[in-house]
Amino acid sequence: YPSDLLPPTTPAVDGARIALVTGASRGLGRSMATHLAQAGIGVIGTYHSNSEEAGKLVAELTALDVPAAALRLDVADSESFEDFTTQIRATLDGFGVERLAYLVNNAGIGVHAPYTETTAEQFDELFHVHVKAPFFLTQLLLPLLADGGRILNVSSGLARFTGPGFAAYASAKGAIEVLTRYQAKELGERGIRVNVLVPGAIATDFGGGVVRDNEQTNRAVAAAIALGRAGEADDIGAAVPLILADGFSWANGTRIELSGGQNL
Ligand code: NAD
Repeated sequence: YPSDLLPPTTPAVDGARIALVTGASRGLGRSMATHLAQAGIGVIGTYHSNSEEAGKLVAELTALDVPAAALRLDVADSESFEDFTTQIRATLDGFGVERLAYLVNNAGIGVHAPYTETTAEQFDELFHVHVKAPFFLTQLLLPLLADGGRILNVSSGLARFTGPGFAAYASAKGAIEVLTRYQAKELGERGIRVNVLVPGAIATDFGGGVVRDNEQTNRAVAAAIALGRAGEADDIGAAVPLILADGFSWANGTRIELSGGQNL
């Protein structure tokens, strides 16, 4: 990274800056974790069930010479958040660091169902994962965030434009954009900036690989994107250290859309 874009030194405590990235075992979260580590930032990544992939990620990040750890977290289980926060505190202690510099609320699921067929269970799961977790887990983690720390929530282009079968998912993403503005307002007074990243269509495991593996969807997506292709995880991950860098510090409550020019 050019020196003026280097991630900040300000929220560092005892030398190391640490990011907590939820859903880091694959997809966008994994790419974010890797690019943060390449920028010299330590990473605590959470995984849901795949401890083997999480172990590989920690080995890769450690090889980049930054503090790294993986913790299990089910963002749909809000009763586990206090215990998880205790584990984060212990992990930071183990790194010899008092505070988190960054929190990236990335974990998500892509439940696909037409509005008329969406069940209450699907709706509740989507809102637990995409709204309740960033709402309450962030609340609990606030005492661990450094003054000058940053929070990045993750929305979706579908919060603004309609995609077939995403009524409940997109409603939850709309809610996280509203929550971001309120967090930015209240937490800005404490020196904590909160922004929301808005990816367009990216070829990952998301939604059962709907963008990556479904040829028809992939073609339709590519046609809707000015750059002529679906995004790759690294199109998003590589941008995250830049979004969290000092040069971006006047962004607060901002929607940062990275879509290759989708639906222009
Ligand atoms: P992905 O399916 O590859 O990865 C999702 C990650 O979230 C995984 O690490 C998974 O383990 C984790 N996760 C899912 N449910 C969880 C739970 N209950 N508890 C803890 N972790 C859980 O998908 P992705 O494309 O990397 O998506 C990452 C984020 O980006 C999500 O918030 C998604 O809504 C958003 N997004 C994705 C796209 C896209 O096209 N891929 C577009 C816009 C927004």
